[in-house]
Amino acid sequence: MLATDKMHTTAQHTTAALAEADRLMVVCNSCRYCEGLCAVFPAMEMRRIFRDGDLNYLANLCHGCGACYFDCQFSPPHQFDVNVPRALARVRNDSYQAYAWPGALSGLFARNGLAISLIAAASVAVFILGFVAWHDPSVLLGVHSGPGAFYRLMPHNAMALLFGAVFLYAIVAIVMGAINFWRDLDEPASTLREPRSVWQAIKDAGRLRYLDGGAGGCMNEDDEPTDTRKFYHHATFYGFALCFAATVTGTIYHYAFGWQAPYPLWDLPVVLGTVGGVGLVIGPIGLLAAKQRRADVLVDKTRLGMDVAFLVMLFLTSVTGLALLGLRDTPAMGLLLALHLGVVFALFLTMPYGKFVHGIYRFMALVRYAQESRTHVPTGE
Ligand code: SF4
Ligand code: SF4
Repeated sequence: MLATDKMHTTAQHTTAALAEADRLMVVCNSCRYCEGLCAVFPAMEMRRIFRDGDLNYLANLCHGCGACYFDCQFSPPHQFDVNVPRALARVRNDSYQAYAWPGALSGLFARNGLAISLIAAASVAVFILGFVAWHDPSVLLGVHSGPGAFYRLMPHNAMALLFGAVFLYAIVAIVMGAINFWRDLDEPASTLREPRSVWQAIKDAGRLRYLDGGAGGCMNEDDEPTDTRKFYHHATFYGFALCFAATVTGTIYHYAFGWQAPYPLWDLPVVLGTVGGVGLVIGPIGLLAAKQRRADVLVDKTRLGMDVAFLVMLFLTSVTGLALLGLRDTPAMGLLLALHLGVVFALFLTMPYGKFVHGIYRFMALVRYAQESRTHVPTGE
């Protein structure tokens, strides 16, 4: 039987998922077979007691590659029943809800798929009705082209005010959640200002270093690693970044130079948005397909709706944006603009209460890991 370290003292936990993660970390800390697979195991080895904050840190450091399940000699049917990827996925998903700001809205994580679907549908409906109410209904189905065409359906100032407000709200809510996470880790704020740790975390996050299970990639329905999840995640992340860059460029064009959208196909906002939009179609489709191939035993099925809702929202944002680009000189433009703006508004509004936050917490966990892996002094226990 595996000897568990007598020096371990079990901390009190607020949920069954945290208690189970604690049990597994104690087993893993005695075994240490997986220490070369990712950052989670070396970070675990720096600890003897796992408080809730430690477990939330380790859970957000985990990329869910699945390698440690297939490599484990204590995974089911062994009586130790060790399943680290699923235990950490449960803790990670619970942590999004625990850190949400304001706390009154944390319930949106519980039935996330349904909540986001309803918000998106309502948002699209309000934009369509708003366009009709604002103008003669014929304007919605008319052909508008040339600079300022979009603003014949919705004035630029109204658009900027509405989207600026919802974006600002999303940023504030996400930052407050991040502060809650960092406080729970009991880590000084100065760690987040350390250039070496931040740069290391940017490199690790930018290439998804810990999604490869120590070598070959993610595990799906069997123990054959593949790299497809990493590729599709890159397409999604960099696609999103390019679309955001397109929006920023368009804003600079408007306010700094007075150049009004829509822009020619060769112009920078359109090129950035098109390339990013293609990434945001390919990436979410690939990740949804990869989700189908994942072994059930690795995933927290209770939060499948949250994962799917976020990917679908990104996909819809991109598809409606590309359709608007392709059909902007036709009578379909008004409806497509309402559809696109409705989806983007719902995406911004729900960002603090969906899978988007995983990127924030994981990046912060990587900063902390970079810092402590450089400065940790072994106790010799
Ligand atoms: S997952 Fe299994 S093999 Fe890996 S460190 Fe834990 S107990 Fe050991
Ligand atoms: S990143 Fe992969 S190997 Fe590391 S704990 Fe998570 S599932 Fe296991």
